[in-house]
Amino acid sequence: METILSGMRPTGKLHLGNYLGAGINYVKMQETNNCFYFIADYHALTTHTKSSELSSSISNVLAEYLAIGVDPNKATIYIQSHVPQIPELYLLLNMFAYKGELEKCVTFKEKARKEGQTLNAGLLTYPVLMAADILIHRATKVPVGEDQQQHIEMARNFAQRFNHYYDAEIFPMPVAVSNDENLIRVPSLQGTGKMSKSDAGDSAIYLVDDKDSIIKKVKRAKTDSGPTEPNQTKPIEIENLFYLMELVSSKETYDHFDKAYNECNIRYGDFKTQLGEDMNNFIAPIRERYTALVNDRNYLLNVVKEGGEKARESAQKTIDLVRNVVGLNSMNS
Ligand code: AMP
Repeated sequence: METILSGMRPTGKLHLGNYLGAGINYVKMQETNNCFYFIADYHALTTHTKSSELSSSISNVLAEYLAIGVDPNKATIYIQSHVPQIPELYLLLNMFAYKGELEKCVTFKEKARKEGQTLNAGLLTYPVLMAADILIHRATKVPVGEDQQQHIEMARNFAQRFNHYYDAEIFPMPVAVSNDENLIRVPSLQGTGKMSKSDAGDSAIYLVDDKDSIIKKVKRAKTDSGPTEPNQTKPIEIENLFYLMELVSSKETYDHFDKAYNECNIRYGDFKTQLGEDMNNFIAPIRERYTALVNDRNYLLNVVKEGGEKARESAQKTIDLVRNVVGLNSMNS
């Protein structure tokens, strides 16, 4: 049995990218592993989320975890800020993270380009907090989307340096995993980039979207004037829509439209109607479970209360080992 760890930030509603990139594997992996799934509320603070939005987002993401099928009887579900051992490990790991490598991190550079002077140190050390999230349970596998690959590599570097410096095998080396051979990147409906919570509007399909909004968003997705030659390479925005179809539709449906594209007789209107319908069918059971759960506050509170206890117990075991090798335990009575 392996230890699995993963989380999502409560910075808005979860979308198809969160589900297909990571969440779907949470559900699969909980059957045979020791799984920890958390709501990354500290991570959300790096973007200065408003407090009222943060607190409602935390319970919404929790209800979304449960709605996609994460089962509190099989996995430990908790809120990051309920486990004080995580920020303690974060502090200790900061001593093994080099400023230069943090500045070279792709997600940091992207944010730096967008935010300029307002960039905070929390964003710079985001990969260190993420490493603490993983290493606090000494997890070996981390189900994530492709955008997190570099962060996991950094977690391995910090873990290795720590083990090496203290000459102790405290941390195993975690790896990013996906259901697919490669890590998944679900594209935005806008033709470029990945589906993301921060891109407002029509670019993301949320797990709680109703049928009408899904159909409308897919209809508004960018297309071109159509293929002009048989078997022509698809431009990126069309390729992305086909990729989304591959994820949510049957193989027959995908093959039907792929053939139509290659034979230059595809009608984008029909293609988008089918994609919208299939996305809705894919999401509908999640949306229904979410609606049933989201207002059951007592149940939600109970899930994170029990999950928090288990997570703190596991985290404390690691912190005891860490404090010992670092030399912080000598004056404990
Ligand atoms: P975040 O929303 O940044 O907290 O991400 C939560 C999880 O969803 C992480 O494992 C991400 O890698 C994954 N994720 C987010 N967006 C996408 C996407 N467009 N495609 C695939 N995975 C994604």
